[in-house]
Amino acid sequence: MNTRVRRDFERIHGRAPEGVWAAPGRVNLIGEHTDYNDGFALPMALPQTTVLAAGRRDDGLLRVHSAQGDGRVTEFAVAELAPGGGGGWARYPAGVVWALRERGLAVGGADLHLDSSVPTGAGLSSSAALECAVAVAYDELYGLGLSRPELARVAQHAENAFAGVPCGVMDQMASLCCAEGGALYLDSRGLDVRQVPFDLTGHGLTLLVLDTRVKHDLADGAYAALRAGCERAARMLGLPALRDLDETELPGALADLPGELVPLVRHVVTENGRVGRAVERLAAGEPEALGPLLTAGHASLRDDYRVSCPETDLAVEAAVAAGALGARMTGGGFGGSVIALVPAERAASVGGAVTDAFAAAGFAPPAVLEAVPSAGARRIA
Ligand code: ADP
Ligand code: MG
Repeated sequence: MNTRVRRDFERIHGRAPEGVWAAPGRVNLIGEHTDYNDGFALPMALPQTTVLAAGRRDDGLLRVHSAQGDGRVTEFAVAELAPGGGGGWARYPAGVVWALRERGLAVGGADLHLDSSVPTGAGLSSSAALECAVAVAYDELYGLGLSRPELARVAQHAENAFAGVPCGVMDQMASLCCAEGGALYLDSRGLDVRQVPFDLTGHGLTLLVLDTRVKHDLADGAYAALRAGCERAARMLGLPALRDLDETELPGALADLPGELVPLVRHVVTENGRVGRAVERLAAGEPEALGPLLTAGHASLRDDYRVSCPETDLAVEAAVAAGALGARMTGGGFGGSVIALVPAERAASVGGAVTDAFAAAGFAPPAVLEAVPSAGARRIA
């Protein structure tokens, strides 16, 4: 990948890059729709990465190209970058440069070429991988010295305010802060992180990713409405965020809320509880104990938060029926991917069972990948 990216960079930009960086996609093990409630999550980085070759320019131009883009080089004048300039893929890298300048950092132009093995639009965070690759490259090329959490905030701001996609900060934190062999225990308030060992092979386990290859349109609008509902509930309860409510206080709090907010609050609070229990189990060296937490998390997303869809529900159901220890949708929902924790010897049969169930339901076949806990964003050349 590294050699190809350099060669393509030279062909496209007519010069050598100054360096090559890589940022991974992610799956979130547990803790969905908790980040914007100041809560907890437990993502891990995938081996699939977005690789970026980059070199500074001194004429104030940002010129971006992607092997997965529209075939063209898109050019921006860095000083004139502003949100609202259209919907193409280039708004993600341009947004990162804009967000750095919004922080008052005097960054200039660059030539960029991207090439990614993260499936796009599959709920595996190809958008964050792209943003984070650009953020770490700019940090180094322009000597910014930003911390990983600061870079995550820059990337999130780019996605929210420049690309126009409402999202929390979990995807960017995962891509920037995960480490090989582990999951990342993320406290979204203050962006504190702890590495938690996640030894799948040592315990005879495989984590499958079942990409449903569907993305239903209501994703962004529904996300904004859910987020607003959570914020309204926190205000009515007199709390800074729903993270400040724990499971023991839940029954009393629910009694004070209007009916439409009850399932939202119940999901967020029980989901934060599941993250805590998952971290305890992993720290105790019992990764198989994640199984029931995954399946309970899916039920909460399906029945309370209502962000699953027929394809993700069927993938979870078929995986569990075929011997998975547990399964859940991962990412924002309305399509995307399901993760299934399976005994390694059953990985092939679980993948096959989900594929068969999709065929029987008239759905297009899912893509089946294996998730291996991998390194976060880094310079590779
Ligand atoms: P996800 O982050 O789950 O993959 P999103 O809808 O958030 O899904 O982001 C996908 C979008 O990100 C793509 O439609 C494209 O605009 C952009 N993108 C991601 N990776 C690349 C890439 N390698 N090249 C060009 N655009 C990309
Ligand atoms: Mg995304």
